[in-house]
Amino acid sequence: MTDSNCIFCKIANGDIPSATIYEDDLFRVILDISPAMKGHALILPKNHCHDLTDIEEATAAKALLVASKVEKAMMKVLSCDGVNLLQNTGAAAGQSVFHLHFHLIPRYENDSVTIPWTTLSYADGEANELAAKLKAAL
Ligand code: AMP
Ligand code: ZN
Repeated sequence: MTDSNCIFCKIANGDIPSATIYEDDLFRVILDISPAMKGHALILPKNHCHDLTDIEEATAAKALLVASKVEKAMMKVLSCDGVNLLQNTGAAAGQSVFHLHFHLIPRYENDSVTIPWTTLSYADGEANELAAKLKAAL
């Protein structure tokens, strides 16, 4: 299913042209229009879903295989030293286009890409308590 108001539905299904590097029945992989690094790619499911919370099982099952395939091509063609795989769910997490997508960002030793966070710490027992709550909600 696609959403006629969604730009990534249009790109994923070929209604808007894109720099496509991979396509199959479930996905199109394109180059990001404003890349963090040259070669920065987006894996777009062809079916509309908002984010990882409403992904279809068949799409979820295949997404990492597509990511692995594209990462290998990046390593080979771009000679990058590493790749970040990122997915943002919700505006608070940085999502700006509300059609699920996975970022693949080629990385080089000492490049200028920043994906920073500062670390917190847990009080005694807090991590186990939180893990138990999350486990109960699965
Ligand atoms: P996010 O902030 O995780 O939702 O990422 C959205 C990404 O989509 C950003 O990196 C944008 O540069 C990229 N983007 C937005 N519109 C287009 C487009 N028409 N073609 C390619 N990439 C796009
Ligand atoms: Zn969509």
